[in-house]
Amino acid sequence: MTLKISVLGASGSIGRAALSLALSFSDLLEVTALAAHSNLAILNEQIRLFKPALVSVSTDELRRELASLLADLPRSLQPELVFGESGLISAAIDSGAQMVVSAVVGAAGLKPTWAAVNSHLKVALANKESLVLAGDLIMGKALGTLSPIDSEHSAIFQALGGRLRVPELKKIILTASGGPFRGFSRKDLESVTRQMALKHPTWSMGPKITVDSATMMNKGLEIIEAHHLFGLSYDQIEVLVHPLSLIHSMAQFHDGSILAQLGPADMRLAIAYALSYPERWPIVERAERLRAKSYKEELDHKKKPEGAVKDLSDYQALSSIPDLSFEPPDLHAFPAMALAQAAGRAGGLAPSILNGANEEAAAAFLDQKLSFIGISEVVGECLERLHSDERLESIDQALEADQRAKALAKQLIAKRF
Ligand code: NAD
Ligand code: MG
Repeated sequence: MTLKISVLGASGSIGRAALSLALSFSDLLEVTALAAHSNLAILNEQIRLFKPALVSVSTDELRRELASLLADLPRSLQPELVFGESGLISAAIDSGAQMVVSAVVGAAGLKPTWAAVNSHLKVALANKESLVLAGDLIMGKALGTLSPIDSEHSAIFQALGGRLRVPELKKIILTASGGPFRGFSRKDLESVTRQMALKHPTWSMGPKITVDSATMMNKGLEIIEAHHLFGLSYDQIEVLVHPLSLIHSMAQFHDGSILAQLGPADMRLAIAYALSYPERWPIVERAERLRAKSYKEELDHKKKPEGAVKDLSDYQALSSIPDLSFEPPDLHAFPAMALAQAAGRAGGLAPSILNGANEEAAAAFLDQKLSFIGISEVVGECLERLHSDERLESIDQALEADQRAKALAKQLIAKRF
């Protein structure tokens, strides 16, 4: 029996890694829908390889362009082409998929995730922003159907045997690589550039999450994500910087035992577990076999190191690991994580405001219109100025707060530039 999947954010880092698994496990996975913003070259190749029934892009113009790229395909292989927000939702729920790989970046991922949850589909969730904006609403409906792709949350999910709520769980320790600026002082951070921020020491990811990792906002968003996924209070979620990115996170139980998950920094492992849990697929063997005819050559435009998955189990691999060092995060140099923690504790609309402001600020930094330390300053100011005691009751309310924060952040950034 194959599992029918829809991949949202198909042209991105997680989407491509998920599709490389679909190639390795074509006996287990069938791709019924793809959605991406605008990268038609990648979509064109993916459509020919995976033959989905439904494909969504951002605009009607892109939809027409894609149709002409696919004109040579026989009618039976022409997918239905849709566009815009309704297209993205349709790609989530209308293709006959049983599971949605939710890997669009940013708040744009919330509506399709929500639609999938409400259609009782399984969701393998990479889009952490969905839980940041509307974790209570989503978890209220998706406890038995949601699995995390984020590597830290996957590590905890694995330690819990593919469950999200385990009463014996005492606390979790999320590990953080520390990003490219680990050890930098606040003063040092005043002069760092976009190029420096995009050089992540251990993971290869899309640009927004790479900037979030550099500011440590990513870890802040992950704290909120973990709070919702595992039903833990903020006091039960600790963060430790672990530069090797070998231990992907740890779960401590009431008897004092700690279960940690170790693995190479390769998102295919976390994605595969989100699809296969509580079973595990032989990723190492299959990906090894794919090496000769790798996804990299087939469809990744030689951007990402796919092919073999590192096997860490032999003596040499293990003994070449220098040491498992840990340190506390430097919240003075990297205030973004503390802002996220506070927004998570405040609840209501604060996490949506945090997210909107951060998306706008991270994009402005990538556009070289805001300095690196400006990112957390803008987020902090938006949180202060848009403070509200409203309770979160609907998805639209969360998205409106996110939009309000984006608009204010835009103004603040324009004033500084
Ligand atoms: P990316 O930038 O590489 O890809 C983003 C994808 O989303 C692209 O396919 C893009 O076309 C699509 N997209 C963006 N806006 C869209 C819109 N409005 N409509 C339709 N599609 C849209 O990002 P990524 O690194 O793959 O990250 C995706 C998500 O997964 C993020 O939420 C990120 O936080 C999370 N995540 C990523 C990693 C990683 O290793 N890359 C790890 C953990 C979590
Ligand atoms: Mg992560």
